[in-house]
Amino acid sequence: MKNERQVVEERSFQGIRYYRISDDTLTHPRGTVIFPDAVDQGGHLFTVWGFPRIKRVYVLDRGFRRFFKTAPFYLEEKLDGYNVRLVHVADRILALTRGGFVCPYTTEWAELWAEHFGLREFFADYPDHVLCGEALGDSPYNAQRPLELPPGLHFFLFEIMTPQGTRLLPEEKYDLAARYAIPTVPQLGKYTVDQMDEIRRLLLEINERGGEGVIAKSEDGERMVKYVTPTSDLEDVRDNLPILFDLDSGYFTNRLLRATLFIQEFDLDEEEYARRIGRSILDGWRILRNYRESAEEYHILVRNIRTWEQLQELLGTRVRVEEMYQRAVLLDGRPFIRVGFKRVFRKSTKRFRMILKGYGHYD
Ligand code: ATP
Repeated sequence: MKNERQVVEERSFQGIRYYRISDDTLTHPRGTVIFPDAVDQGGHLFTVWGFPRIKRVYVLDRGFRRFFKTAPFYLEEKLDGYNVRLVHVADRILALTRGGFVCPYTTEWAELWAEHFGLREFFADYPDHVLCGEALGDSPYNAQRPLELPPGLHFFLFEIMTPQGTRLLPEEKYDLAARYAIPTVPQLGKYTVDQMDEIRRLLLEINERGGEGVIAKSEDGERMVKYVTPTSDLEDVRDNLPILFDLDSGYFTNRLLRATLFIQEFDLDEEEYARRIGRSILDGWRILRNYRESAEEYHILVRNIRTWEQLQELLGTRVRVEEMYQRAVLLDGRPFIRVGFKRVFRKSTKRFRMILKGYGHYD
């Protein structure tokens, strides 16, 4: 475990200074952000704790029984976007990424969200609380997939965190979300493991419509566990095969294992899934027929071109980003700039090119 000094990075966003904790330490989880020029209501340095990691179960029935025993739990849909923590600092609403960066893009969108739901009112009443949710839509962190959402970036709340890093009870957070008209992830209800038939039906339905899965949360909000569908696992396989050499070696086998266990537990049609697994592989590697490069495309909507420049700077510190186009568009009668960019994966591009040119390799 690293000590604080090795993992604290000082940054600033539009004049607001912050410290980002880039890795887990004994006292602070990765992604914790400290604003040295702000204090919470208790007079402590304004600290936004890193969002906790969530355990995964690979089998539903035994997993949930082991995890919750006879205790009730809340089920929420797991939405497939990126993790956002909204905070109110220096009289602004800022959006933090899971890794602890202030994201210029999400922060710009948060201003728009505040026009439609009661973010300002929430922060007026709970100035040092944190709204944690998933952002989906025209996203700079998730490559484009068809979504049944209107253009733009959308926020779905799933937790409210206190300045001490604890989370509000599920009932409390649902009440507050309703009171301030903040959209939430789909709330699927309260269950115990005795209602496994109903939970299975929910998962089958989520799988059939292409959803990612569920997160189950204990009544006291302390414990969480995730379980995902084979449809989402196979989509990941298909979409990520082109960048194979940039991913951990376990990425694909892990998803195939998860999908297989779901198929077995739900007794799904093996012929159909044999075809779908095969399809995800052949479709994923279709690009090798006329191969140029391994890249992911993103399309985003900014109001101010400076937001794109700041985002590009942030993304560019870790990956190579190439702008494809900028185009003026109207969204609900408002001017925006649509920006297309791609992220090129150098390692995979190099390896696939060598393979396709016929170079030999020792396995
Ligand atoms: P982890 O480190 O928590 O295992 P990960 O980075 O591997 O996470 P995922 O496997 O996608 O990510 O699962 C956790 C993430 O799921 C959360 O960080 C959150 O952004 C997202 N999420 C989507 N829906 C929910 C929800 N209803 N409740 C909690 N988190 C959710």
